[in-house]
Amino acid sequence: MDRPSADAGDMRWGWRCPLCETDASVTRDPHSETFRWECDDDDCEATGFGFTSRRRARLALREYRERYENIYR
Ligand SMILES: [Zn+2]
Repeated sequence: MDRPSADAGDMRWGWRCPLCETDASVTRDPHSETFRWECDDDDCEATGFGFTSRRRARLALREYRERYENIYR
């Protein structure tokens, strides 16, 4: 299978805020050259940063969700 744009595929992979299920955006900080995810809802404070790749940010987002569910269930 040909995958000319893995990044675009990753971005559609279901980035959801672990706290409120709003879509979360992943951006790259040009200064530190790290990636961060951030909830699109202005009232929600969920965020993660300092990841060396988009993939790591995605994994961290999933771990964040699992940790949250373990604590509050
Ligand atoms: Zn949120």
